[in-house]
Amino acid sequence: MSDDANTTLALVASSAGAAARPEWTTAQRIVVKIGSALLVDRATGILKTDWLASLMEDVAALAKSGKEIVLVSSGAIALGRHTLKLPKGALELEQSQAAAAVGQISLAHAYQDFARQHGLIAAQILVTLGDTEERRRYLNARHTIDRLLALKAIPVVNENDTVATTEIRYGDNDRLSARVASMVSADCLVLLSDIDGLYTAPPGSDKDARRLDLVTEITPEIEAMAGDAGTELSKGGMKTKIEAGKIARAAGCDMVIASGKVMHPLRAISEGCPATWFIAPSDPVTAKQRWISGQLEPRGSIVVDAGAEKAMMSGKSLLPAGVTAVTGNFDRGDVVIIRTATGHEIGRGLVAYAKADTERIIGRKSREAAEILGFEGRPELIHRDDMALNRAHAKK
Ligand code: GLU
Repeated sequence: MSDDANTTLALVASSAGAAARPEWTTAQRIVVKIGSALLVDRATGILKTDWLASLMEDVAALAKSGKEIVLVSSGAIALGRHTLKLPKGALELEQSQAAAAVGQISLAHAYQDFARQHGLIAAQILVTLGDTEERRRYLNARHTIDRLLALKAIPVVNENDTVATTEIRYGDNDRLSARVASMVSADCLVLLSDIDGLYTAPPGSDKDARRLDLVTEITPEIEAMAGDAGTELSKGGMKTKIEAGKIARAAGCDMVIASGKVMHPLRAISEGCPATWFIAPSDPVTAKQRWISGQLEPRGSIVVDAGAEKAMMSGKSLLPAGVTAVTGNFDRGDVVIIRTATGHEIGRGLVAYAKADTERIIGRKSREAAEILGFEGRPELIHRDDMALNRAHAKK
């Protein structure tokens, strides 16, 4: 998702409290992302079993209290590269595919073992970017996870790195976990990280760096704090965590970045440990809007005039007459970004015409469209039911 300079920033001064946040205590369906750096010892490439045991004890406690837990776990490549004795540093695509193929087996076994120790059933789900971007496959994956949760199993999700290619992959589990959270309509996404939240500046090098307790809008200012750090074992760094925050918030899901460097990291959240909470707007979001707003690769942009913007904000569809320009290369049914003349993203939607056809009818009345195009299409360019507006913007 791109920036929206119109959003507002609300920061609350750090105050580590002893009580859990209400977003945590009320969350019923929780997605927990576990990063490679937490699970796999960097020097030896060996799984940190004590830590995983403590995490699974927390998962069991939450499950016992009636919560539904989905885990999104990295670690396949980190484990497999060690087993295959691959060189240190960045891997070639084929090397990481091979490493993932080897490491994923160990990872799945480890989850199965620890889940079993608590009387739980672990279920492995490997997804590709296409599984979450294409609506039919997305719905299919959602049904599978829903069914597993109904059967009281603990889904353990990872990207199917063995078949992912450079162009078609998440590459980081921060965004993948947010997409999964959005897909299963989770209430809360936990990103267990090697740092306990988002800081105003890199805490290692800036003594004035301050951790944020709460983020209620993701502004360009917040994005600037993220920088783009990342290590060999943690693919994303803070940047992809902010991207994850956007996806989660757009789906009405709260997100927390908390330290996974402690034992019992989920219990720590229940005890109100220091963390950064990204609070989602409270407006209801439909399942279809979740899918639209969480798309990682919109195919193009549609620039609208002020009248069309106003009409959309009051719940109307977008008509060709209100469009001034289009960019990108999209087909009928693709997700496109809707922008103002100044470039602000207002929202996203499923477009009813392909790019070439759209270009021919923009600025024209809907009833002229059929004549221009030679076929009868929909009167709307983006129907209001196919639109997910940026709610921070919509509130203005
Ligand atoms: N899917 C990758 C793995 O399991 C990790 C991606 C990440 O670290 O975010 O190794």
